[in-house]
Amino acid sequence: MNAEIYNYVDANLTKMIGTLSELVAIPSVKGKAVPGKPYGEECAKVLDKMLGIASSFGFRTENHKNRVGTIDFYPDGEPSLGILCHLDVVPAGDGWKTPPFSMFMSGGKLYGRGTMDDKGPAVCVLYAMKAIKDCGIKLSKNVRFIVGTDEENGSSDLAWYKKQAKLPPNVFTPDGSYPVINIEKGMIRGEISAKCAVGGTKSVISATGGTVINAVPESASATVVGFSDIELTLAAKNAGIGQLVTFKKDGDKTVITVKGKSAHASTPAEGINAVTGLCSMLGRLYGDDESTVMFRSLSALFPFGETDGKSLKIAASDEKSGALTEVLSILSYSKGTLTGKFDIRFPLCRSVERVKTGLEKAFAAKNMELSDFSGVEPHETSADSEFVKTLSKVYEDVTGARSGCIAIGGGTYVHDIEGGVAFGAEFPGEDCKIHSAGEFISAERMKQNAKIFAEAIIRLCK
Ligand SMILES: [Zn+2]
Repeated sequence: MNAEIYNYVDANLTKMIGTLSELVAIPSVKGKAVPGKPYGEECAKVLDKMLGIASSFGFRTENHKNRVGTIDFYPDGEPSLGILCHLDVVPAGDGWKTPPFSMFMSGGKLYGRGTMDDKGPAVCVLYAMKAIKDCGIKLSKNVRFIVGTDEENGSSDLAWYKKQAKLPPNVFTPDGSYPVINIEKGMIRGEISAKCAVGGTKSVISATGGTVINAVPESASATVVGFSDIELTLAAKNAGIGQLVTFKKDGDKTVITVKGKSAHASTPAEGINAVTGLCSMLGRLYGDDESTVMFRSLSALFPFGETDGKSLKIAASDEKSGALTEVLSILSYSKGTLTGKFDIRFPLCRSVERVKTGLEKAFAAKNMELSDFSGVEPHETSADSEFVKTLSKVYEDVTGARSGCIAIGGGTYVHDIEGGVAFGAEFPGEDCKIHSAGEFISAERMKQNAKIFAEAIIRLCK
């Protein structure tokens, strides 16, 4: 490891923090497209700022139509390594104790929207390149730092850039976590729908639950008519949601509310699904129209407490990527019309088509329909490649921590990039409140990241 680089990074921490604070001050949330600025004014502004700083450091920069910027270590030469970060951020949201777009330092932590995702890591990459340059270390291969501005809204920036330019054969993105994420499960989002005859005196009138498709829903509610307290209490108990449910009487109607626990759709077993809990209970009621029958059918496909797709007959798992997971995340039902949105993450041993066929079959058997569907295949970069082995070793050497490859259920910025992996910048076991109030990166981790990236560049491009 290079002592000169280490000293340089340590000595330049204040400058790194200054640069990060300049970037955080630009609220680069996707905005309305204006001519020449497809993601709005602020995203164009943050890109311009970053490229200006990189150019002042002596790197060759290029702005690709305000979608993507490139920063090359050498003015010419095809790059053999690409590093990918994004400068757009998600909206601030509520709950901040400090101003989200004015970086605040306290107790060694830098608070602000984008500090960890992904402006902080981007600053670390830039200073890693600067450290190598200023320390006079010669690389025999070029490095291209690629900064995008639409990661948080579907990565259309990269999809566009891939059509304009060839990506380097090896790409890592510090937009995930350490050590090396080389496998990302496939992802499916879809909708189940059904209709039934209603109008009975004992019936489900309406039901709703969940707000976003990629999370375990933490609350759900329904209004039913004609059921006695005993029927309702017993149904809740048999559904296993006795502790989670509350009832509110309103004449012969009852409003049922179920409180669960939220979790990311890629790790649904960590949550308690309020929607499937509610459906399980409604399916245990016996009405005099078809509404309760329909919830019985839905619950048979998505039972409360199940997250592996067993009842949908799509369960699968393999050693490298783990098990398939599914979440019924959004429910909407009114006057005999039901729709449910779901999120599925599937392992390497399955394909979008195979899971889709399984779903169609399972839904049809319950007289339900797959009414909307989109899917992305899994991503894998070989753990045995020199590239991945080098990154893994760099992390181990710089941090002294155990390294290796990991598979995740979520998708990162390199999901559609062949030979791409996520490498940092969050450390295992740390929660830097990405996408939440109080997002931060610690000054210590800034230094460590810059050292890791510099070391990775040197070893991969020497
Ligand atoms: Zn990100």
